[in-house]
Amino acid sequence: MATAQTQPLPGGARRRLLVTGAGRGIGAAVAVMAARRGWDVALNYARDAAAAGRTAEAVRAAGGQALLLPADVADDAAVVAMFAALDAAWGGLDGLVNNAGVVDVAQRVDEYSAERVQRMFAINVFGSFSCAREAVRRMSTRHGGHGGAIVNIGSVASKLGSAGQYVDYAAAKGAIDVFTVGLSREVAAEGVRVNAVRPGITDTEIHASGGQPDRAWRLAPQIPMQRPGTADEVAEAVLWLLSDAAAYTTGALLDVTGGR
Ligand code: NAP
Repeated sequence: MATAQTQPLPGGARRRLLVTGAGRGIGAAVAVMAARRGWDVALNYARDAAAAGRTAEAVRAAGGQALLLPADVADDAAVVAMFAALDAAWGGLDGLVNNAGVVDVAQRVDEYSAERVQRMFAINVFGSFSCAREAVRRMSTRHGGHGGAIVNIGSVASKLGSAGQYVDYAAAKGAIDVFTVGLSREVAAEGVRVNAVRPGITDTEIHASGGQPDRAWRLAPQIPMQRPGTADEVAEAVLWLLSDAAAYTTGALLDVTGGR
């Protein structure tokens, strides 16, 4: 008998997962771990096709099918087209990880441009809404689907506020918390579970993208475990929430923070 982690569908078909921002970091770790646990993985990316291609190779090496789906998640029409491409290739999906996200350079709120805040919410919040909407339209029994699971990647920043760094990012992740709870209740009776993982400081390239390549280790003394997390440690939580082992878990905000 298969374990909950391997998750075959009736008839032995592999489950189909879409991971946004899958080229590197937490998204890439989720994609490869999912392939090892029986999922085929569609890999979304915005700009770095080479990185996404490397993740695709790793997914295939782990035994999964990989499908590359370029799209800026902040562009709703591009998200609609991405899901149409997924339908054409695989006929739908069984799981979504809303992982694509950005930070920005450290600034106080009184230094922000309007463009900065709009980009922050467009990618981190509106992109997650667009992808979740399309996923629910395919997975919900209300729409003729057979259920599924959504995991949103939030951040412990939603509790801490990120003063002096990126309050706009923390506020966007706060929106993800509320989105997770609200959507989970909307679709709970339709076979779709919706949860969030809220990482703490994780050692990925996101910190360099915000102009602070040393941030993860510089802030280690503020973390009770005295070290940043790894992308794989976050991915473990995501894979559990996607799996049937979490069958009665929905609307949860799971902190993976080393105690922070
Ligand atoms: P990362 O290393 O910077 O990777 C982010 C990925 O997102 C990149 O592969 C990038 O792909 C993709 N992406 C960015 N904008 C996109 C867009 N508009 N559309 C589609 N894809 C886009 O970041 P990470 O650290 O793995 O973070 C992943 C998630 O975890 C984010 O939601 C982040 O907020 C969250 N998180 C991270 C930490 C941390 O300390 N690392 C802590 C808490 C939460 P392209 O290069 O192709 O654009």
